[in-house]
Amino acid sequence: MTRIVADATRCVGAGQCVLTDPATFDQDGASGVVVLLRAAVSDEGLALARAAEYLCPGRALSLVE
Ligand code: SF4
Repeated sequence: MTRIVADATRCVGAGQCVLTDPATFDQDGASGVVVLLRAAVSDEGLALARAAEYLCPGRALSLVE
């Protein structure tokens, strides 16, 4: 499993993570700030989570092995 860390202070609420990996990411309905739906991803889910990390315009996401 790979742990996912989201830095809410860097999140600009763009929603790219939700569009890319809706099983892992959501957004707060009021603020738009990222909400993690799970704290870690298995190997099967890693590609989508990595794509979300790469696409995040705020550089708010990181994956910790
Ligand atoms: S893509 Fe990045 S900036 Fe946009 S909502 Fe997700 S974590 Fe926040």
